[in-house]
Amino acid sequence: MSKTFKAYQITKDDEGQKLSFTELTQEDLMDGDVTVKVEYSTLNYKDGLALTGRAPVVRRFPLTPGIDFAGTVVESTNPRFKANDRVILNGFGVGEVHSGGYAEVARVSGDWLVTTPEGFTSRQAMAVGTAGYTAMLSVLALEKHGIEPGNGKILVTGAAGGVGSVALLLLSKLGYQVTAVTGRPQEEDYLRSLGASEVLDRQPFSEKARPLGKELWAAAVDVAGGNTLANVISQIRYAGAVAVCGLADSMSLPTSVAPFILRGVSLYGIDSVMASLEVREEAWQRMAADLDLELLESMINEISLAELPNEAAAIMAGTVRGRTVVKIS
Ligand code: NDP
Repeated sequence: MSKTFKAYQITKDDEGQKLSFTELTQEDLMDGDVTVKVEYSTLNYKDGLALTGRAPVVRRFPLTPGIDFAGTVVESTNPRFKANDRVILNGFGVGEVHSGGYAEVARVSGDWLVTTPEGFTSRQAMAVGTAGYTAMLSVLALEKHGIEPGNGKILVTGAAGGVGSVALLLLSKLGYQVTAVTGRPQEEDYLRSLGASEVLDRQPFSEKARPLGKELWAAAVDVAGGNTLANVISQIRYAGAVAVCGLADSMSLPTSVAPFILRGVSLYGIDSVMASLEVREEAWQRMAADLDLELLESMINEISLAELPNEAAAIMAGTVRGRTVVKIS
């Protein structure tokens, strides 16, 4: 391994947070028992927030951002891993308080790593990334609730984004009838190619919700929060469920208890960051079984490290479609 490696670094001074593309040395690596040669990373909404400084995602300085990566172990003193093992990292504060994936080398705790499932390249693993793995956690929550394809239609909000696109792909492959909600009607063909049987405009979902609406959906995956989520909840059928994972619309939830106490609707909170290894391994194994890799390929936009700042601005503007993978080395 060469003595220096390329990396993004975020520093902070009185004027605020600053992003630079720089050269680091082994001494700059953070504590950990596994050193990984990073092959691919990805761009999630949270990475966009970190890179642009739009929200205080990064809470330790200097720090390399990037909440996930996939690569090959170079050195390990952790009994679970040895040199040349292929691994994936999602979350656990990486890219927030521990240096992350936008660097050619990363050092982390082996307790945070998952073995890359057989059949996935590092590029495909990052096409899934935190967004896709969160979509899988959402699908698992709905399955555990007992939602089956015969129960009725499933609604997915933010469908042209990362979490939404993978949720669509997974649910349609599992035999569910999926309705996509999007603010980008021009992406209808794309959404149908991923398995949406119906595409709805998100505008009506952003208006103030009534406590109860028509019962339309057996379940939903929501990435938006705010009025969008309030409208989704009001339209869930009796005993249905919503997996809630994002705040692309808003952090608030302007609704009432009516759907919960009159229709027995359940809300499942989805957190990818601190999910246990057991949960992660289940999600990745299911991903290996249930994801159509050809369709996954159709939603990939591959970029170089140099293109990251521009793409970060684009994901904040809501113009990024599907999944962005970042080729590192
Ligand atoms: P993307 O930016 O790829 O997708 C978000 C999508 O949400 C957009 O593409 C857009 O889809 C839709 N959207 C944007 N603005 C609004 C709005 N005002 N109202 C309704 N919908 C909107 O981000 P990701 O898919 O990576 O992440 C989605 C959300 O999930 C984020 O809030 C992120 O923080 C969260 N998240 C949470 C995780 C967890 O652990 N809980 C893990 C990963 C992500 P369209 O154009 O189709 O409408």
